[in-house]
Amino acid sequence: DAEVTAGMEPAVAAAVYTKYGCLPIAAGGPLAIRELAQSYIASSDIDDSFYIMDLGNVQRLYDAWHAAMPRVKPFYAMKCSPMPALIDVLAANGCGFDCASAAEIQLALDAGVSPDRIIFAHPAKRPFDIRFAASKGVTMTTFDSIIELDKIAKWHPDAQCVLRIRADDPEAGISFGIKYGANLDEYENLISHARDIGLDMIGVSFHVGSLAKSGKAFYRAIECARKAFDVGTACGFHFSLLDIGGGFTGRFNSFGIVQSMVGEIPAYINEALEKFFGPDTPYSDLRVIAEPGRYFAEASMHLACHVHSVRNRLDRASDDEPDVLIPTCDYLISDGLYGSFNCVVYDGAKPRAWLLPGPNLPPMDTVLMRSTVFGPTCDSMDCVFKDVMLPQLRVGDWLLFPHFGAYTLAGATNFNGIQNANPSLFYVCSQSSVDEENAVVMWACEMEKAPSQIVAT
Ligand code: PLP
Repeated sequence: DAEVTAGMEPAVAAAVYTKYGCLPIAAGGPLAIRELAQSYIASSDIDDSFYIMDLGNVQRLYDAWHAAMPRVKPFYAMKCSPMPALIDVLAANGCGFDCASAAEIQLALDAGVSPDRIIFAHPAKRPFDIRFAASKGVTMTTFDSIIELDKIAKWHPDAQCVLRIRADDPEAGISFGIKYGANLDEYENLISHARDIGLDMIGVSFHVGSLAKSGKAFYRAIECARKAFDVGTACGFHFSLLDIGGGFTGRFNSFGIVQSMVGEIPAYINEALEKFFGPDTPYSDLRVIAEPGRYFAEASMHLACHVHSVRNRLDRASDDEPDVLIPTCDYLISDGLYGSFNCVVYDGAKPRAWLLPGPNLPPMDTVLMRSTVFGPTCDSMDCVFKDVMLPQLRVGDWLLFPHFGAYTLAGATNFNGIQNANPSLFYVCSQSSVDEENAVVMWACEMEKAPSQIVAT
């Protein structure tokens, strides 16, 4: 399929890596990143958060996608992490883009992406954004209501409309069904309205929910999409686009393989595409796209946070025993819920961290103490880890959060004047996502056993 390309031309890759001053490194797994962060901290006088962005991981994620679902062209949902380097690598691979606003469309265009590689995948758009898309020649857009169709007809009559249907994975981490997606009994009314007001319709989209778990949910969603295609045909359209949305995770396992791409989800998708849109169906000319967000963003960035304040005190053991006091440590680190850890609130994230002893500090004590890790703002709700067991940290120690690129920096603010939305960025390009195999397996086990989600080095 000429639509789906894998890998960048070597010259293009070199240009992207040079543009960001990427440091080539052998391994991009958690151990290697920990060593890299430690040496960067030791060799600089940095004492504020920084991100390590690994463009090698992004390339391998793209390749894994292509190998698992060759028929499905990814349109990266850049809301998840609108980092120019990430967008550049994906654009150079031939990836398309799912944009949710004028600003995101502009970011894709700035990366040299042509308008036909952009889908404005927001079913309820601001009029300004619709007019902007029209002015830039971005035609593909989603809808799920009559009133949205009327808005599109008014401000973007040349749009190629895509019906967003509701098809939820009940096991998904975050469901979108209560906000978006037409039900089966609405398809006909919506599609015939598009026809009656003279709009073009080209296909159907869905999003089963973020952090999807069920391959069967994708199968059922594709089956529902086929029903919508048949309604489209009955209404006089010839649909040629199926957009299977996002929801995919992008984690490497201890062998450096992208776990979600060897699991049941791609298998069910491929099977459903064959069954409902295969060569002996009326839709064999179908173009299939997807809108993965976290899949590409998750392993693209690692965040290091500096411990800048420590408070030791005696605190109540529990509310039931107000007289029993135990030693407790409070720490403030350089990023928090108003910054990249907004994912704890909005994305249900459960961050995991390595503890890195600060440069020139002795190794950490092995005795664990009850601890709370706060973000840097004055708000007491700005809390990253509550009541976890940690060794005594010192001002100058660090916490490293590997694979922290999805829905993190994208939603960060500079609340309190703390520049969490503009941290230092440090680019690398790793050659593999595997560390020394045993060591990585050990790391994963330690995580499971740890009393908190924090691991001391
Ligand atoms: N497409 C749409 C329309 C979305 O709303 C989202 C997430 O909010 C995505 C794609 C990306 O989803 P994910 O990060 O789960 O792949």
